[in-house]
Amino acid sequence: MTSEISRRAFLKSSLGAAGSVAASSGLARAAAAAETPEDPLATLIDVSKCIGCEECVHACRESNAGKYPAPEKPFPGMIPSRVPVEDWSDRQDVSDRLTPYNWLYIQYARANKDGEEIELTLPRRCMHCVNPPCVKLCPWGAAKQEENGLSRIDSDICLGGSKCRKVCPWHIPQRQTGVGLYLELLPSMAGNGVMYKCDRCFQKIEKGEIPACIEACPEGVQTMGPRSEILRTAHDLAGKMNGYIYGEKENGGTNTIYVSPVPFDELIIETGKGRPHLSPVKNLMENGTHIALALLIAPVAGAAAAFSKFYRRVKEDEQ
Ligand code: SF4
Ligand code: SF4
Ligand code: SF4
Repeated sequence: MTSEISRRAFLKSSLGAAGSVAASSGLARAAAAAETPEDPLATLIDVSKCIGCEECVHACRESNAGKYPAPEKPFPGMIPSRVPVEDWSDRQDVSDRLTPYNWLYIQYARANKDGEEIELTLPRRCMHCVNPPCVKLCPWGAAKQEENGLSRIDSDICLGGSKCRKVCPWHIPQRQTGVGLYLELLPSMAGNGVMYKCDRCFQKIEKGEIPACIEACPEGVQTMGPRSEILRTAHDLAGKMNGYIYGEKENGGTNTIYVSPVPFDELIIETGKGRPHLSPVKNLMENGTHIALALLIAPVAGAAAAFSKFYRRVKEDEQ
């Protein structure tokens, strides 16, 4: 592991003007981008700037705490019974991986750069795919994509079947058992909880505000703007630092673009449950089977979502 001094010296030489220009201009345009679905809202993450301070992680938790699950115990039996209970409610402070209570974490990476061992830190969360399989293949229509390109899971509709996690190339969504619609609707027939992930602070973006993690970062690591502009800035930045881009083509393109001074496949990172990889990813929705499945389940998802919403309204009227 490299010392902080060598890392800082390396980063200082890597940082060009592009990073700071992007940080100031992109933020100002974020709200405008939210209104142009043909050029979705994207984020540039300049890995060379991140110091791993976790201010973004704390800000995410603080800003989104109201959306976190409050499960009822004891849990009903899982359907089917082989499905494991996933309960993070007693471990809400875990911050070194994604959980239903931690939608962003800092991933540590080691690499060799010009013969020197360096350490990098990467904020990791949902990539917000341009064509998100989690949305297209959710059988209940609980995962949805907004016009500005961000994807989110409606916790009022999700039954926790975890199809979204299975089809996500990075297995991002995380389940909490004992919460959600299934408790009232189908406890003995279906349902295992609710899936959670970064929703891009959609409620802040709707008001023209910046996501909490971006606002809190002392180093200006993240920049938001129209995807075309973010890609241009990413290429400028990569050119200046002799760097590499991740997210432009992965899974057909994502609305999260990382720029790193080291090739992504040379970063040594810890991966596993709740700790996504940085490997190349083919376009999952290019696969004919998945497209056919998406078309097949679309009407079912629409009907299920409508029914779930109707049921919720009835319950609210009763209260
Ligand atoms: S707040 Fe910024 S610098 Fe600190 S860990 Fe998050 S992205 Fe990195
Ligand atoms: S990264 Fe995974 S959870 Fe996020 S939009 Fe893409 S498929 Fe969905
Ligand atoms: S965009 Fe919002 S929800 Fe997503 S990681 Fe940042 S603070 Fe958390």
